[in-house]
This record gives sequence, structure tokens and C-alpha cells, in this order.
Amino acid sequence: MRVLFVASECVPVAKTGGLADVVGALPKALRAMGVDARVLMPGYPGVMARAGTAEEVWRSGDLFSRRGVLRRADVAGLDLLALDCPEFFDREGLYVTEAGEDWPDNPFRFAALSRAAAEIARDGLADGWRPDIVHAHDWQTGLVALYLDAWGVDGVATLLTIHNISYQGVFEAGLRRDLGMPESGFTAEGYEFYGRVNFLKAGLVHSDLVTTVSPTYARELESPEFGWGLEGVLAARPERAIGILNGIDTAAWDPANDPAVPTFTSRTMSGRNSARADLLRRFSIDAGRPGPLFGVVSRLTDQKGLDLLLGVLPDMLRAGGSLVVLGSGDRRLEQAFRTAGSDHAGSVGVRIGYDEDLAHLIYAGSDAIMVPSRFEPCGLTQMYAMRYGALPVVARTGGLADTVIDANAAALSAGVATGFQFEPGSREALSNAIAKVFAVYSERGLWRKMQRNAMKHPVGWEGPAERYVDLYARLMAAETGKRGFSGTR
Ligand code: ADP
Repeated sequence: MRVLFVASECVPVAKTGGLADVVGALPKALRAMGVDARVLMPGYPGVMARAGTAEEVWRSGDLFSRRGVLRRADVAGLDLLALDCPEFFDREGLYVTEAGEDWPDNPFRFAALSRAAAEIARDGLADGWRPDIVHAHDWQTGLVALYLDAWGVDGVATLLTIHNISYQGVFEAGLRRDLGMPESGFTAEGYEFYGRVNFLKAGLVHSDLVTTVSPTYARELESPEFGWGLEGVLAARPERAIGILNGIDTAAWDPANDPAVPTFTSRTMSGRNSARADLLRRFSIDAGRPGPLFGVVSRLTDQKGLDLLLGVLPDMLRAGGSLVVLGSGDRRLEQAFRTAGSDHAGSVGVRIGYDEDLAHLIYAGSDAIMVPSRFEPCGLTQMYAMRYGALPVVARTGGLADTVIDANAAALSAGVATGFQFEPGSREALSNAIAKVFAVYSERGLWRKMQRNAMKHPVGWEGPAERYVDLYARLMAAETGKRGFSGTR
């Protein structure tokens, strides 16, 4: 089974969010199961630093008046194919300039990535390696399946995973010719979207199968509230989006073996106490505060619902709680958190920026992690939190609803709760959930029990990877069926 992953980011070489964690971990889990999975991604500076001198395995044709070379390198257990095309990818910001503006040539940059993937799927690499399946991720790779259909390529199946449908890659209609998108597809049934072109829609229309990252989000996507205008496109497909929950890389995120934090296990938690003390010091929080220490590690965008947290903050602090925040994004939210940090010095600590090691320390040292998202396709932070014994406080939506067992009366009496859920978008519900966190926190035995449950909750990739292998097998069988008995590659 040869699978070509195509994505715009991948841990450990380029990351802005959860997509990178998934693309950095799922192919490794697949390789452990015997799947020949390779990852094609843009040759950003961080990628070329690892793959710049690696073997050249393919040369592109015309990539929108540029040329690209593929370099194949073994990076952190991944079989990585870096698209070396400096004019498009030798830039620090993956998607945006330093001022936070989208790169004006983004449609060409990601059409080039998609085109390279489609050419490899059609012609194979220099050594003859050709994928059975192209597994594309999010809007940046939406055009792969469109190109393959436009060129009439067969013998390869396509799978598209939606990690967040609110990002679609919508551009001016006039670009369609320059991007090589067939004119016949510029219709409501094709890639046209309110008079513009939509990369994700192209992917949804042309891919053989579509998945998304949790069962609840798969259902939510079919409603106007969560579908961002594409709910009808999903409903019109022969088969709707299949929800497969993400896992996390349990080797990279292991509290018993993590160079970024004092280590601990669910039985010996003294390392966790040291991590908490470190965290208080790093954020200058008064160690005498009696209540739980809440943590946030997040992109600061409207999606994440952190404005709700700001709304309940005074009550949380009055009750003796404290808060540490690591995040970046929306300038307005960054400023609001900075102000909260200076208004409540000693009980609120804020770092605006991106810091992988500090993120690990926040999961290891906080008592609870806040994820009040308005929508959340899967969410990984609540899983890192559970693995590190920080109880997640999450909005009941998408993958948050699927991964956290709420501390309701039934779950508490069965002894299985792992966190706290509340009604998304409601400040009052969030406030009630926080009150419940304080109540459980004051019963040490119950809190410890929930921590142990959370730390033992299965969050690895083994289960999800098996589901993907089943889908790949199904796709390959269908492709063979299409070719019939006389078909050859
Ligand atoms: P999304 O992909 O919407 O950002 P996820 O919960 O799926 O949300 O994934 C977020 C990932 O990004 C997690 O690995 C989280 O630890 C990480 N992350 C988010 N913000 C920061 C930050 N400021 N510094 C370090 N890591 C961060």
C-alpha cells in the first residue's frame, strides 16, 4: 500500500496548528503497520534545513512559470518529500507575511504543491514509485483531485481530510485559467463558490472519499451553522464525510519521558508538582493562591472562544484560581490578554508568541486546561492535557465532545470522568463548569481519580490508523474494480 500524504505543514519541520501534529504522526503510525507512506510538503526554510542536501527524486514540469525539485529525506521517522521551489516557499511565514497578511501568491503556491502531487501520482518518482492513494489535507491540497480528474489519470485513488472547514482557499474567479482549472468545472456543482473559485470545494467534489477529524464534527458539518456554505456540497456527495478521531503522538508527548518538563507518571506525581511550581515561577504567579491553576495553549482566534474566558475571569480569580496563557493570533485578543495579565499580575500570566517547550510545561503543570471553542473539528490540546494529567474544561462540540468524559453524576459514580464539558458559546455555562472544577478540586481524592482516568484515556494513533488503512483498502479495491480484470497500471 503506497500512500502519498500531501499537506502544507508537518511536525517537526513546520507548524501553525493541529494539522501539523496529525501529518507528523499519522504517517509514522501507518509505516509501523507496513504502509509505505510518504509526506509531500513545501520546502519552507525549516524543511530545507533538514532536507536541503538530500537526494533529488523528481523534477517538476512547469509549476506556474517556476520549477521545483523534490528532495527525499528521512526526518523524525517520516519519509519526507520536500518540494524545493524557493520562489514559492523560501519564506518564514507559511501562509502570511510578518504583518499578518496572506501572501498574495498563495493560490499559486498551493496550486503548485497540489500540481506536483498530481504529477507524481500520474508519472511516479524517478525510481518508479507511484502512489496507490493520494491523501490530501485541507484547502491547500484541494486541487490535487481536480487535476487528476482533469488529466484523466486512473489507477490512483484520492482521499481528502477536512481539518477545519472554515478555511477554504477562496480566490478571484479570473485565476482559474492561470491555475489550469477546467472551465467546465466553474459551476455550482463544481469548484465555483459565489462567483469565485474555492480550493476546498474542488477537493470535496473531486475526491473519491472525504474524511474529517471526529465523528461529531462529521455530523456538524452537514448543518449551515458549521458547514460554512459547503454543507450542501457534502450532502450532495454519494457518501458524506467520514469522521475518524485524531490521535496524538504518544512518544513525543509522554510525561514519563519529556525533556521539556520534570517527568512523572500517573502513579508518581511528584514531577508534576515540580512542573506546577516551575510554571508559577515562569509566569510570576503567587504560589499561595488556593484554587486551581488554569492553562491555555491556543491560537487566539474567534473560533477558540477565549473571549468567554475573559468574561468569567474576575469570578475565577475571586474564587482563588489563577491563569496562564500561551497564544498568538488575532491582534485584538492578544491585546486583551496582555491587559488581563497586567491588570491581574500575580494571578494571571500571559505569553504572546509560539513556544513548543512552554506548551509542554503548561500541560504538565496546570491543574486544568481551558478549551472553550465555538467549534472544534477535533482539537488536540485537550488530549495533550489529559495525557499530562491536566483536566480539560471543554465546550461540548466537535472532537471535544468525542474525547472528554464529562464529570456528570453518572460518570462520577461510575468513576470514569476525565474532564468537564459545557454548552458552547455560553458564558453562564462556562462559569458553571468552572464552579464545578473548584468543587472537584477541593476533594483531593476525586481530583486524583479523574487525573488518573485522564492520563490512562487512550489517545494514541493505533486505533485511528487502522481505520485509515481500512479506507485505503476500500479505495484500492474500488480502483481495481474500475480497471476491470484486464486493467494494468
Ligand atoms: P488548531 O489546529 O485549531 O490550532 P488543535 O488543538 O488541533 O487546534 O492544535 C493546536 C496545536 O498547536 C497543539 O499542538 C497546541 O499545543 C499547539 N499550539 C497552539 N498555540 C501554541 C503556541 N502559542 N505555542 C505552542 N504551541 C501552540
